[in-house]
Amino acid sequence: MAPQFDAIVVGAGFGGMGAGIELDRLGLSNYVILEREDDLGGTWHVNHYPGLAVDIASVTYSYSFEPNPYWSRLFAPGRELKRYAGHVADKYGLRRRMRFGTVVDGARWDEHAQHWTVSLAGGETLTGRYLLTATGFLSQPYTPPFPGIDSFAGKILHTTAWEDDFDLTGRKAAVIGTGATAVQLVPEAAERVAELTVFQRTPIWVVPKVDTPIPAPVQQLFAKVPAAQRAARLANTSLLEAIMVVGVLHYKQAKLLNKGAAALAKAHLFAQVRDKRTREQLTPHYDFGCKRPTFSNRYFKVFNQPHVRLETNSIERIEPDGIVTADGHKTEIDTLILATGFNLWDVNFPAVEIIGRDGVDLGKWWRDNRFQAYEGITVPKFPNFLSLNSPYSYSGLSYFTTIEAQMKHMGRLFGEMFRRGEQTFEVTAAANDRFLGEVTDKLGDSVFYGGDCASARSYYFNQHGEAALLRPSSTVTTHRHAVGFPLTDYTFGAAGMKTPA
Ligand code: NAP
Repeated sequence: MAPQFDAIVVGAGFGGMGAGIELDRLGLSNYVILEREDDLGGTWHVNHYPGLAVDIASVTYSYSFEPNPYWSRLFAPGRELKRYAGHVADKYGLRRRMRFGTVVDGARWDEHAQHWTVSLAGGETLTGRYLLTATGFLSQPYTPPFPGIDSFAGKILHTTAWEDDFDLTGRKAAVIGTGATAVQLVPEAAERVAELTVFQRTPIWVVPKVDTPIPAPVQQLFAKVPAAQRAARLANTSLLEAIMVVGVLHYKQAKLLNKGAAALAKAHLFAQVRDKRTREQLTPHYDFGCKRPTFSNRYFKVFNQPHVRLETNSIERIEPDGIVTADGHKTEIDTLILATGFNLWDVNFPAVEIIGRDGVDLGKWWRDNRFQAYEGITVPKFPNFLSLNSPYSYSGLSYFTTIEAQMKHMGRLFGEMFRRGEQTFEVTAAANDRFLGEVTDKLGDSVFYGGDCASARSYYFNQHGEAALLRPSSTVTTHRHAVGFPLTDYTFGAAGMKTPA
């Protein structure tokens, strides 16, 4: 009655691949990675809209143990990230563990057999001793229910379902949304279309992007002298860390730095946009950091072009040939681009139904009791389960800092379990409560609670108004905890059959 797998991982993005690498390191090599898409890479597989690139410099946005000396630019384009994901999967033998086009319906802890049973769409079930979900934060695309959207007669494209062969040339297009995705896409679209209207509900803080190609000699230096790239990574990561820790997490103590970032973004806007009214419309009225700021040297400039218009009236309805705003004005379009982001809090925590001990439903429990996870990774009543995209798990600006901290947490947790000769673990309720209390206290200093975020409409906040996504610690602290959390925060047990109570 042993389970089929040591572990079942859900998601073949960078998080799931990191988990797979760590499982191999721990000797739990009989695992499967289930992926709903038809290839690996997560976000970097799904997203391929024009202009896609990282906006965390590539030396930092990559695994520290698998540096890529050959990034073509400081901020690599999306296709290089996808290629890098393929390289990592091949080098670490992950691809043969992956099952694509596999949609997970749910997972249930089997208390009797002490393993997880995972149900797939189509009816198949799989069993694994451990369950790891790496389903991403931004993986459930959101389309607002605009009245009349189904009647639209032109082309609708969501940025997560871009059709590479769709030609924008000569089109009368609208982009709805002004998040990080729109900031990358709008300059590209503006170059091709005949008319472009950008529908903005909430402006975004945009700071200059210090981007440049990485010349071949520097790439060769990084390849020959890895320490040089490590130094570049350390310098960049430290800068990002300072911005995050001082400007966002310690907003109360360092308001000036936060205001300085906003001033930089305003100066950038002033330098790039001629029309005063457009500048005013593009200026956020919430504090820097309340919602994720972005980087671009091209976005603002687009609004100087005669064929581009910024529309700030709210959308009332969509008609077959256009968008009608609250002031009664109709913008005629033939192409509707939805840069409307993702639904995090209704459908993504968790992304699939997870039923733990005593029939506890994780999604319901989170909604009834506040979103929470010990160290952003484990939850009481969910034995042998690692939720890699949990509330309060995202640490630092680059997702890789979170991934690698979680790999370290796995190392310490499983190491202790093996040392004791056990096969099950579960975090204690007391440890979980303590962690939730700590993050709640620390968030009091952050821009989310100390600043003015009222008009930000930020996905950092959940439906209860809690900023429950980012972990309010420096990445150094997060990594220190990952290798040093008290082992008494977990209980361990023997696997095998349990006599039903
Ligand atoms: P987003 O930041 O959630 O932006 C969605 C946009 O759609 C917002 O401007 C939002 O307006 C608008 N919107 C949603 N519903 C609307 C409605 N009913 N009416 C009018 N407007 C509506 O999504 P995103 O731009 O896809 O970016 C999501 C995240 O992905 C980023 O924050 C970033 O973390 C990541 N990302 C990273 C990169 C990169 O690193 N290269 C690139 C792209 C994205 P409101 O603000 O008013 O809600």
